[in-house]
Amino acid sequence: MSSFLPASQVADRIIQVRQTLPDSVKLIAVTKQVPVELMRSAYEAGIRDFGESRIQEAIVKQMQLQDLTDVTWHLIGHLQSNKAAKALEIFQWIHSVDSLKLAQRLDQLAESIAQKPTVCLQVKILVDPNKFGWTVPELLADLPALNQCSQLRIVGLMTIPPYGLNPPEILAVFTRTRELAEQIQHQNWSTLQMQHLSMGMSEDYPLAIKAGATLIRLGRTLFGERG
Ligand SMILES: *Cc1c(COP(=O)(O)O)cnc(C)c1O
Repeated sequence: MSSFLPASQVADRIIQVRQTLPDSVKLIAVTKQVPVELMRSAYEAGIRDFGESRIQEAIVKQMQLQDLTDVTWHLIGHLQSNKAAKALEIFQWIHSVDSLKLAQRLDQLAESIAQKPTVCLQVKILVDPNKFGWTVPELLADLPALNQCSQLRIVGLMTIPPYGLNPPEILAVFTRTRELAEQIQHQNWSTLQMQHLSMGMSEDYPLAIKAGATLIRLGRTLFGERG
């Protein structure tokens, strides 16, 4: 059983959270499992960025929300290679590019449809068998090949801290992510850009903002428990 909040409370939450955010931070409303009526309420409260983790769910919702023409759709969940073409059709941003193979596949597909999708590279600062993404050494090793993916607008890093860390440890993960982005930026790659940090969820977004997040992904804080 999910226990999403009533529409009026969702609007209040959005307004409240907004007031606490610096101008440099964009709020992405994570709407996995959230019914489209509640997504409309979020839109009316000013949300223009929706984050979804599943392709099929996003397709259905986009059909039902076709009239909201100024929404940006963000894929935030793991993407299987065989769904990469579909993902490019329906998402403008992909935060969860988590392997060189996937990046190269997206790059090829994007070229074939003459698009330039915006993507983040998902990195694991601490070893975490439960998460997708590059470890730091793996990412550094793959940078030359990623820089060749010129059809992708690679704009930054995405991270999710492992479960069970205390606040100082979470802050350290976010800070290390920012430092890694700075390190990569200083290498002056021709196509890799590192101006965005997609980090911070309901439990930890104030820490992410402290560390320099530019995109926060909030679900439960805005909509209530998914159940
Ligand atoms: C579900 C999800 C979120 C939002 O999590 P909340 O705890 O509901 O804020 C953010 N990012 C990713 C990658 C997610 O899967």
